[in-house]
Amino acid sequence: MDSKVNILWKKILSQSIVSAEELQKYVAVNVNDVKKTSVTYPMQINPYVLQLIKEKGSSISKQYIPDIRELDDKIGMEDPLAEERDSPVPGITHRYPDRVLFLVSNVCPSICRFCTRKRKAGKWKGLTKEQLMQGIDYIRNNVNIRDVLLSGGDPLLLQDDHLEFILSEIRNIPHVEIIRIGTRTITALPMRITPSLVRIIKKYNPVFINFHINHPDEITAESRAAISLLVDNGIVLGSQTVLLRSINDNAEIIIKLMRELLKLRVRPYYILQADLVKGTDHFRTRVEKGIEIMKKMRGFVSGLANPYFVIDLPGGGGKVPVIPDYIKNLSADKVIVENYTGDIYTYPQPKE
Ligand SMILES: *Cc1c(COP(=O)(O)O)cnc(C)c1O
Repeated sequence: MDSKVNILWKKILSQSIVSAEELQKYVAVNVNDVKKTSVTYPMQINPYVLQLIKEKGSSISKQYIPDIRELDDKIGMEDPLAEERDSPVPGITHRYPDRVLFLVSNVCPSICRFCTRKRKAGKWKGLTKEQLMQGIDYIRNNVNIRDVLLSGGDPLLLQDDHLEFILSEIRNIPHVEIIRIGTRTITALPMRITPSLVRIIKKYNPVFINFHINHPDEITAESRAAISLLVDNGIVLGSQTVLLRSINDNAEIIIKLMRELLKLRVRPYYILQADLVKGTDHFRTRVEKGIEIMKKMRGFVSGLANPYFVIDLPGGGGKVPVIPDYIKNLSADKVIVENYTGDIYTYPQPKE
């Protein structure tokens, strides 16, 4: 039997807006542009996100409402991170020696216009039961895999019993040490974080949840409640934020967001340079912008609020941290270092 809280999130999700005609009843949009864009790149906006758009405006609407510029991106690639190339079995990308990415869900709380998997968003049919088992077998047969990162789609949009099945199968593999879940639910469908979901996740600890949040406007009474419920139950939360042109590409906004997250007991994990995804070029920021933001945080803001700024390299090179250049000179006997205020210091090296 489904509980009341479970009925609530499913109902909200089922009422998602997927057509331009429907959207225009609630927000002023160019219907033709939205229609044309969403033929190529589907739209999905649930009522919670719609409400957020109405309350907060462009910081949210730009993330979810189709933009005609998506159709004239000449630079982006379908699969810039070469996830398919590095995929030994459907749904799994095995790039790093000790961990895998496992796409166990094809459903999202709402579709982000800058999605890394824009090639799949709203189109991918998901894994069959056989493919899911094949993925689990792959992890079981590879003793080097210590860390399984569940993503999708959004793993937290699976039904409770289906998610529990996946978690228990993976937890049963002796060499898997930690399970990670990547999710957008906390900021796009926070009512999904129900007491029964939390009870399930807790059983398979250590489970880390990294959630996607791009702007302080995404912190609401509902998302706060979802975060508290998880953290109070011992689930470790991290955040991932993508730098997005004219949405959050500004030190003040990012610093505010990181501080707010810390107050909620969420450890900022990654700030990501936007991936080179076809249809998202208008969201990309210059790398200097990210470096500038990191420079304005380090030293001025609690070290705990400082995530890594990373570029996930096109071509499948993986994530590389981009760090402002604090080392001005490094020689056999000393290092010349610039500190956060721009002053220069010398650190003498020990003998070789
Ligand atoms: C991001 C990513 C991971 C996880 O990387 P971490 O730096 O450990 O967070 C693992 N596999 C793939 C394919 C990824 O893209």
